[in-house]
Amino acid sequence: MSELTMDTLVSLCKRRGFVYQSSEIYGGLTSAWDYGPLGVELKNNIQRFWWKQMTQLHDNIVGLDAAILMHPRVWEASGHVENFNDPLVSCKNCKQRFRTDAIPEELWAKRQCPECGGQLSEPRQFNLMFKTHMGPVEDSISVVYLRPETAQGIYVNFKNVVQTGRVKVPFGIAQVGKAFRNEITTKNFIFRTCEFEQMEMQFFIHPSEDGKWFDYWKAERFEYYKKLGVRESRLRFHQHGPDELAFYAKVAFDIQYEFPFGWKELEGIHNRTDYDLRRHGEFSGKDLTYLDDGRNERFTPYVIETSAGLTRTVLTVLSDAYDEDEAEGEKRVVLRFHPAIAPVTVGVFPLVKKDGLAELARDIEVGLREDFSTFYDQGGAIGRRYRRQDEAGTPYCVTIDYQTKEDRTVTLRFRDSMQQVRIKIEEIPAAIRKATKEYQRV
Ligand code: ATP
Repeated sequence: MSELTMDTLVSLCKRRGFVYQSSEIYGGLTSAWDYGPLGVELKNNIQRFWWKQMTQLHDNIVGLDAAILMHPRVWEASGHVENFNDPLVSCKNCKQRFRTDAIPEELWAKRQCPECGGQLSEPRQFNLMFKTHMGPVEDSISVVYLRPETAQGIYVNFKNVVQTGRVKVPFGIAQVGKAFRNEITTKNFIFRTCEFEQMEMQFFIHPSEDGKWFDYWKAERFEYYKKLGVRESRLRFHQHGPDELAFYAKVAFDIQYEFPFGWKELEGIHNRTDYDLRRHGEFSGKDLTYLDDGRNERFTPYVIETSAGLTRTVLTVLSDAYDEDEAEGEKRVVLRFHPAIAPVTVGVFPLVKKDGLAELARDIEVGLREDFSTFYDQGGAIGRRYRRQDEAGTPYCVTIDYQTKEDRTVTLRFRDSMQQVRIKIEEIPAAIRKATKEYQRV
């Protein structure tokens, strides 16, 4: 396959209704994107997949959905007001702004602009939190922030969950939600945006067990991406060196993916020690320690955090799924999504509209809706309809023809191999479930 470029991916996303530029009819808003009919299904499916893996399949993890707006003291305690800064420089010539870590080293050494070669200013610290006001008066006491991460909503609810959730350390709290950062470097489509979604899980443990649980979550999260259908050859770990490590973290590893623009972070796994609970305890004056009956000990739990970007995972899955091959002598664009997260699971087509085939196909499609996400299409040549579904990443297509009327059999066609098998109408759900369970990326 030829190398995928971002231009190709962005135009496919627009053409097929995965992702659109925000407010496009007004010229667009930089760094904000909307998810179209196929995109929202893909994003929801990834979110559901993560939620199931983290909560349903772990009996020691519970869920939470905290508000985006929180008491402003939260962000003082967390260190975001003081430390959540990016070093920012601007070009004296073209006036563009850059994060210093986004400038290639050789250019930064010469203080040279990566866009026009002009002279760069000295860096100044820029806080990434979006500030707004609550209530009718815009004064300093009404300041609230749009949360820059979902994690803090979990820490401030630690006591609530312990008291009401019948959980015992070690246990985790999982949350999916929007986060906002006033990012300066916002190219590369939905990779880095000002408004995005995170899927975070904070796992509370006894401090003496941090090494064991860190290794556990590191391995578990890598396996998760393989289950999601991402090719292992495009995944790797990156350990944070001393200059990358956040001030609160003891150890941190990123899971990186090889995007069309290089290896970049997809998820962070951090040992945040007792920093967050300790700070919230200090700032709120509430006791956030934990009494462990078994150990007969009171302590502030350590936290192992797994922090993944949902919207960044959408980009990962799209980049990883994109493929080109040949069908009937023509180039075929195919998105090889894992069937478990494909926006449409099964496309249903009558070979022709007449002679009652359309009605029969519609009946079959309606019958499949309870179990699968379906798409009915009766327009155009059958090959063209297959191609449209290949490009949308639909793993299975069912075609109804004249033989269906005689013996109630249909053709089930597989996206990746383009193979077709003849099966009874009643066998469709079981055949789809089996193929999904056994799915292997080609
Ligand atoms: P970076 O160094 O790339 O800015 P980070 O290390 O600050 O990222 P974390 O704070 O660890 O990122 O956030 C956890 C995850 O949230 C990231 O791995 C990423 O998937 C996602 N994420 C963070 N910032 C953004 C953003 N601006 N747009 C989209 N996803 C983001």
